[in-house]
Amino acid sequence: EASLTRAESLIATIPDFPEPGILFRDITPLLADAAAMRAVIDAMIAPFSGTFDVVAGVEARGFVLAGAVAVAAGVGTVPIRKAGKLPRPAASVSYDLEYGQATIEMADDLPAGSRVLLVDDVLATGGTLLAGRQLLGTLGYATAGVAVLMELAELNGRAVCGDDVHAVFQV
Ligand code: 5GP
Repeated sequence: EASLTRAESLIATIPDFPEPGILFRDITPLLADAAAMRAVIDAMIAPFSGTFDVVAGVEARGFVLAGAVAVAAGVGTVPIRKAGKLPRPAASVSYDLEYGQATIEMADDLPAGSRVLLVDDVLATGGTLLAGRQLLGTLGYATAGVAVLMELAELNGRAVCGDDVHAVFQV
């Protein structure tokens, strides 16, 4: 619909960031726009309405989206953070990135069996969201679904992190 089409037009495409050869999708102009933000948050929630108890956002742009999704859906949010940032990490998973390597961590403050909606801004190779899923599983939580703003389809991250991913935009 019109508001989503407009929201997509607010995502900037930046060549050679953070490294030569990478075409970076910058979602910050979209986040700054009230109507675009509202439209994409509603679209991220729609397929999963009523199926999750809490939203987990992946550092750092995932936090912004996860907080908004949580409030709109009437649930809380928890952070999945890069290694060394959480005071009480309960589990950690290491994985390969489109550019480099990373480790993510999470606390275990949720009730056992919580149904978690995993949220991030961009699905690229799928390594980050697969690691997020593994983290949730290790801690005894269920992944209710995975919602992203944008999927970079040619990288085929869906094959890595699961084809139940819901992407508001695909490029
Ligand atoms: P993946 O693990 O799927 O290769 O990479 C996904 C992670 O890298 C996400 O956390 C995402 O924020 C970041 N990322 C990779 N490519 C892009 C991009 O083009 N734009 C943005 N905003 N983030 C990206």
